[in-house]
Amino acid sequence: MIGIARCAAVSSAVAAHGLDAVVIVHPTNVAYAAGFHATPFERLIALVLTPAGEVRLVVPSLEEEAAAAVDGRLFVWEDADGPAAALTAGLAGLPANAKIGIEHEFLSVARLGLLQSVLPHAEFSDFGPALVELRVTKDADELALIAAAAEVADHVVGEVAANAVRRGVTESEASMACAQAYEAAGGRVQGRPLVLAGPRAALPHGSPDATPFEAGGFVLCDFVFTVDGYWSDITRTFVIGEPDARQREMFDVVRAAQLAAVAVVAPGVTAATIDRAARAVIEDAGFGKYFVHRTGHGIGLDVHEAPYLNAANEEPLRAGMVVTIEPGVYIPGVGGVRIEDVVVVTEDGHDVLTHYPIALAV
Ligand code: ZN
Ligand code: ZN
Repeated sequence: MIGIARCAAVSSAVAAHGLDAVVIVHPTNVAYAAGFHATPFERLIALVLTPAGEVRLVVPSLEEEAAAAVDGRLFVWEDADGPAAALTAGLAGLPANAKIGIEHEFLSVARLGLLQSVLPHAEFSDFGPALVELRVTKDADELALIAAAAEVADHVVGEVAANAVRRGVTESEASMACAQAYEAAGGRVQGRPLVLAGPRAALPHGSPDATPFEAGGFVLCDFVFTVDGYWSDITRTFVIGEPDARQREMFDVVRAAQLAAVAVVAPGVTAATIDRAARAVIEDAGFGKYFVHRTGHGIGLDVHEAPYLNAANEEPLRAGMVVTIEPGVYIPGVGGVRIEDVVVVTEDGHDVLTHYPIALAV
């Protein structure tokens, strides 16, 4: 898939950092810079950008056709040969002692070794933070795609709630109902939609199995959807039939925490402040030890990306950032409640992009 390309913006950053080139391998960073969306698995895809705006893409032969739409030069390698020769050609013309930006977080030691064998006298430095800085605020085109993905989220949660959250249906069946509703809406599922029932809803990252939904039990649905590479992320927690007092209390506390956190989202407010806003509500209600994760994460080309809304992140939010707000309370043996929405930081506050009603009743 070819999406929005931002080679010029990345090349400017390459120049600003005094580098001769960057070598980008992380698939969503390649997608950001070149608009080329691919899932390379173990095969090397490397995007080489120079300060002058030259675009070179090293791709395995099975990606050649898809990559042909990239506005740049392709260097194709075959499985039988490996990527070394194509990478060497893709790096040709750089000075022997070139300064090269790489992604410390994503470039494997083996791949760094390959780069060092091609450019033995080059100096490598981490360009990852510069890419995070570029990606962390979204432009209008990106915000439109995230909003479209949020619309899909609202629709699919509605379909699942209406058709699959009922007694006797299993977690797996509801997960498949989510996948079907998503594909019917034109999406393509990656991974298994998360549905957890009863006490299993206390597993923040459990995996759906054959557990059936029971009357009076929690059903926690956490779904991610993409439109042209940009993600939405939504969680709703339901109870089939009449919730008991404890379930209602857990839900009300999590909802109050979520509202408190959403309310403070604005430019200049730190990530930690937002985390504290949610955590304070849950701690005051006596459920503090059951809120075992951060309040949220940035979202864009990756489901989880900067900024991370945790107690230690004193980074101030800026207009154009998009985050999830997803406090939860998980009581082992009882169940869990998480409520998650996607929120964009605007010039004067925030907009919530996911709108599916938040209520225990299904
Ligand atoms: Zn989620
Ligand atoms: Zn999330």
